Amino acid sequence: MGSITTIAPCGINCTLCHAFQDVKKKCPGCRSKIGVIRKSCLNCAISNCDKKTNYCFECMEYPCKQLKYLDKQYQLRYKMSILENLDYIRQKGEEAFIVSQNEKYTCPDCGKLRTVHYDYCIYCKQEKKK
Ligand SMILES: [Zn+2]
Repeated sequence: MGSITTIAPCGINCTLCHAFQDVKKKCPGCRSKIGVIRKSCLNCAISNCDKKTNYCFECMEYPCKQLKYLDKQYQLRYKMSILENLDYIRQKGEEAFIVSQNEKYTCPDCGKLRTVHYDYCIYCKQEKKK
């Protein structure tokens, strides 16, 4: 069992997701048992996978076609490899993964976590709107 619930089975760090950072309609994260999980997350092929492993790398079919597709999308659109994330978690553990992610994605201006989905910081942008 994973101790850190904000890392999705596919290796995406939910705290870096724009849905998780959304103040108005905050998504609780893919593994959450409470709250309303974003539809796009619920409908994703990995969420609907019936293998039910804690992380995708525990699966016999790892890396499967769906996961490789998702990885390609993330590399192209958001410059992040979820396969690399999964390898990192497998080799160094969840705690170390979170530490390295925090280092990489902390906003230099406000100190909060940036999202991988946008090339700007959601928090700083909201500040500017006030
Ligand atoms: Zn910021």
